[in-house]
Amino acid sequence: MRFDEDSRPGVNESPSRPVIDAHIHIFCFGENPTDGFMSDTTRRSWLTRLLMWMTKLEREPGDTLSAKMRHMLIRHLEQSVLDYAIVLAQDAIYGQDGVRRDADTHFYVSNDYVLELARECPKVLPGVSINLWRADAVRELERCHAAGARLVKIHTAIQGVDPSLQRFDPFYRRAAELGMVLTFHTGYEHACRVVSQKYADPALLARPLDHGLKVIAAHLGTCAFFDPEDFYPNFVAMMGRYENLYGDTAVLATSIRWHALRRLAREPAWFRARIMHGSDYPLPPSRFPYLLRTGLFPKERRNPLDMDLLIKRAYGLGPDYESGVWRLLAGEKPPPGGPSLQ
Ligand SMILES: [Zn+2]
Repeated sequence: MRFDEDSRPGVNESPSRPVIDAHIHIFCFGENPTDGFMSDTTRRSWLTRLLMWMTKLEREPGDTLSAKMRHMLIRHLEQSVLDYAIVLAQDAIYGQDGVRRDADTHFYVSNDYVLELARECPKVLPGVSINLWRADAVRELERCHAAGARLVKIHTAIQGVDPSLQRFDPFYRRAAELGMVLTFHTGYEHACRVVSQKYADPALLARPLDHGLKVIAAHLGTCAFFDPEDFYPNFVAMMGRYENLYGDTAVLATSIRWHALRRLAREPAWFRARIMHGSDYPLPPSRFPYLLRTGLFPKERRNPLDMDLLIKRAYGLGPDYESGVWRLLAGEKPPPGGPSLQ
């Protein structure tokens, strides 16, 4: 569906608070490269193969792997307790000359693919992706906005985007005028080849935040226990400085970040009020580190979207956690409070 349809909660009379997953991926395997593709490196990587094995993707109905992926996502969504999910596109690599470089792109999903999916599935909200280096970035932003998108994902590490560069000001200015929410990847990336991990530091988000944009730092700057650094302290510092900064909990319910949710649950209420639910589907949550909180065989284990939500619900992250991103997209003010009001 589109964000601007009148059926959305908050616009109609219904006071209900929808449950939204703000961070879901879909993959394309390149049968139709204009929809999306993966490089041979990505397809052969141990993580892609592990994911395909864990999700039993091959068993889904569909003529192609992309069709199977699409079927699996829609099936899980329709059967889950989620009201909506933001499904993210993934823009290609662009050179500093603004030209697309397919040969260097390891993971691509077109904006039209997720816009079309949102038209087809009422639970899907489109999360488009625009590499800020592309020559037509502002034009693509306007096109996606006109098509109903209200959130843009920028993958700092994979797409080689340092968000602090002055040259991106025209994009930020136009995004602010249009009321677009920007999600930036933060924290070390492990699933795909990166241009640079240093672009994933939340401290680099000051420039889009200074434009007044609502910014979501995906993964809260967290890194895995084996990474050489941890950007979470920088995310905490930025949350104190900017009331228009938010975070999502994508990938936090996994073994390599097993301590992240416990650390987050200890943060003050004003801080947790700006944290949004996100899973990072199809990456499944790890059940083992959370057995004491979720029980051994919860019924939600049959659906990775529900299982991820169950784990995060067990940490009591606050009343705004599951629907906060809706308020953001509907253009409402951030929740009251801040470090000075503790
Ligand atoms: Zn992700």
